[in-house]
Amino acid sequence: MRLVFLGPPGAGKGTQARMVSEKLGLPQISTGDILREAVRRQTELGAKAKAYMDAGELVPDGVMLSLVDARLAEADCHRGFVLDGYPRTLPQARALDEVLSRAKQRIDGVVLIDVADDEVVRRLSRRRVCPQCKGLYNLDADPPKVEGVCDQCGVELITRTDDSEGTIRNRLEVYRNETLPLVEYYQAKGILAGVPSEGGIQKVFPVIMEKISRLRQG
Ligand code: AMP
Repeated sequence: MRLVFLGPPGAGKGTQARMVSEKLGLPQISTGDILREAVRRQTELGAKAKAYMDAGELVPDGVMLSLVDARLAEADCHRGFVLDGYPRTLPQARALDEVLSRAKQRIDGVVLIDVADDEVVRRLSRRRVCPQCKGLYNLDADPPKVEGVCDQCGVELITRTDDSEGTIRNRLEVYRNETLPLVEYYQAKGILAGVPSEGGIQKVFPVIMEKISRLRQG
């Protein structure tokens, strides 16, 4: 099964995509995680992406297309995947359809998680990330067991550099301008499943699984 997670920053895409990928035994492909890792390792890709990421802007489509094409060609993606944070522009969505159709494949479902702007700012300013396993925490809704430390790895949690209020507002603007048109694009294909993000992680997850199983039944 090939799934896409869509939604503004802070909607809970990463958390839910991870839970769904574990449940279905499919790889989670987070373009944000791939880019952050590239920045950390100071690779060529990281050098290209860093300034855009720090400003809350999108990394250019050309860079993203080759990155994702290469990742989807890896063996673990043959049975399917859960894309988290990709596509984010119409050219990315069209290119994804094209590369899949060449392999006689297609996106089976798009999960849209929605959340209000003020809630996004509130959530992201309280978000912490494990630099090692990429695990996500929220100091209010989903805090680590020991303050400031990842439950899984025991390493110190960090705040993402783009989780500052100014950058968050810019990311929301970019989402509205660049990514929101994808809602119509996937709606027209009849594969969009909308899920409100209220009620907490454990409430949202079964709603998503239910929608996915309906998509599966066609
Ligand atoms: P995320 O972790 O998904 O919020 O992504 C963090 C940052 O990585 C974004 O603000 C962008 O700068 C960049 N990024 C991630 N995915 C994409 C994408 N599909 N297209 C362009 N830039 C991206």
